Amino acid sequence: MVTISQLQRAHIERQEEWCPDQKPDLSFRGNEMAGETGEACNVIKKLERERHGWRGSRDTHVHLGEELADVIHTAILCAITAGIELEPYVADKFNETSRKNGLSTFLAPEPQPVPIAELEAFVAETRDLIEKVTFDESGKMVAGLWVGGNGGLLQRETLHATDVLRRRLETIAALVAAHQKD
Ligand SMILES: [Mg+2]
Repeated sequence: MVTISQLQRAHIERQEEWCPDQKPDLSFRGNEMAGETGEACNVIKKLERERHGWRGSRDTHVHLGEELADVIHTAILCAITAGIELEPYVADKFNETSRKNGLSTFLAPEPQPVPIAELEAFVAETRDLIEKVTFDESGKMVAGLWVGGNGGLLQRETLHATDVLRRRLETIAALVAAHQKD
């Protein structure tokens, strides 16, 4: 299965391959989407004509599937041109409609792996706290001698570093919990 984000990334890649020197603007992309929507509607018109038994040309569900796919692709291209990451909007709009109408079907957010930047910050903040606690306890080793230190009394900076680390831990714990849910 392909996600909206994967589709958006693939379109960005293919656009570079297709026309690296020409970047269609939003009005082009909007017209393109409207054109594809019109093509889908034209197929629907013919399918409805057949359902009613009216005279005129016919069409197929396969063709409708193709045109609806074009509508999705061109909507993605509009989002890329407008600089919008579309996937969160798709989920949010779906959930918002469910909420508004008192329905119980919701799209769960995709589980996100813990970002490397969070882990790097966690490592740096942990080192910083250890250093501060060590300094409060014994001072700093300078040229083979312990200098400074508060005999174990905690400085304001140490308490602040503890708070920073506590908040980072909560963020990471929430990311891990969200990841494990699915
Ligand atoms: Mg088409």
